[in-house]
Amino acid sequence: MDGLSVTAEPPSGSTARKLSSGIAEYIEYPDSRPDSWYDWRWQLKNRITSLEVIRDLIPLTRREEEGIKRAQGRLAMAITPYFFSLIDRQDQKCPIRKQAVPRLEEFTLSSCELVDPCGEDSHSPVPGLVHRYPDRALLIVNDSCAMYCRYCTRRRMVGAEHPPMPSDRFEDAYKYIKSKKTIRDVLISGGDPLMMKTEHLEGYLRKLRSIPHLEMIRLGTRVPVTLPMRVDEELVTMLRKYHPLYMSIHFSHPKEITPEVTKACGMLADAGIPLGSQTVLLRGINDRPTVMKKLMHELLKIRVRPYYIYQCDMAMGTGHFRTPVSVGINIMEELRGHTTGYAVPTFVIDAPGGGGKIPVTPTYLISQAKGRMTLRNYENKIYNYVEPD
Ligand SMILES: *Cc1c(COP(=O)(O)O)cnc(C)c1O
Ligand code: SF4
Repeated sequence: MDGLSVTAEPPSGSTARKLSSGIAEYIEYPDSRPDSWYDWRWQLKNRITSLEVIRDLIPLTRREEEGIKRAQGRLAMAITPYFFSLIDRQDQKCPIRKQAVPRLEEFTLSSCELVDPCGEDSHSPVPGLVHRYPDRALLIVNDSCAMYCRYCTRRRMVGAEHPPMPSDRFEDAYKYIKSKKTIRDVLISGGDPLMMKTEHLEGYLRKLRSIPHLEMIRLGTRVPVTLPMRVDEELVTMLRKYHPLYMSIHFSHPKEITPEVTKACGMLADAGIPLGSQTVLLRGINDRPTVMKKLMHELLKIRVRPYYIYQCDMAMGTGHFRTPVSVGINIMEELRGHTTGYAVPTFVIDAPGGGGKIPVTPTYLISQAKGRMTLRNYENKIYNYVEPD
């Protein structure tokens, strides 16, 4: 077993009861948490994966209960006790809860929804590698995550928790990258690459680093948010050997920025890893400009530079999370000029079918004729700019 994951079967019967009552106590009374709570191995071992356990922790709505039942064997559900502890149990609309607990709506499909919403499988020259842009490639190394987001765009492939890509498959991807001199940037994603054992991930990084034309490596992860204790000295000491290494961390809501996450991001930033954020625009979770602005500010405070806000992909059963595109444009309007430029990410739609990320922005160029441009600023004041003859 090469991944970090330690749960194979959901706990059953009396064990489940005993287990969940222990977790319930730790969740309710932070002072009762044993040291092991802060150990990622314990967090993974005690992930919440069954209806029985979750029912003991919060009173579920009928839609949630039905959703969890139907998800079993079809869509992955796992929540670290740490991430679960961020749920406000008094609030059925809690943004953490909505991201983590399945609901019946996930089984309402619409005809526009796609199994592979960003056309990744059709742009894959070798298994595990998506090569869409000439100069960079996406390497999908595993299918495990610490917590399974209910809106996951890769839900077609995550959750089985197979071991990470076997070495012969990695070898094929490596050979492809090595043979394509145009590739200067490899983005390692999954699943979640930080769910791999440190030495296994290091094996990939070392091998990739040996490719002369590869200028930089990026890791795409949500582990610093859902299992922040995974970011330990051992991991950070390993990662810092492979600079220039960048990291894109998936954040959804200001509530996710806890002391634990602050510490994890601080360690990564101190190791010289430039941190960016990726946020999916989600209905009822972060679709209000005040919430999104607060998230962007909190990210800058922990040295994470907002990178992308994604329009929610047309993935199967995620219609209840999607907003109109205008909601995202309005959020951008409320950010640009109204706050620090560093707090303003790019709002993109990852084009269905594989066109890549397309930026969608409010319009500031009102008209353009004979070298004269009419612009508006963030306060809707009009300005003219005259181009050289
Ligand atoms: C997002 C993505 C990238 C990286 O895109 P950037 O805009 O450079 O961050 C590369 N390849 C694929 C397939 C992607 O989906
Ligand atoms: S962390 Fe990413 S890959 Fe994993 S479930 Fe969430 S969105 Fe999907």
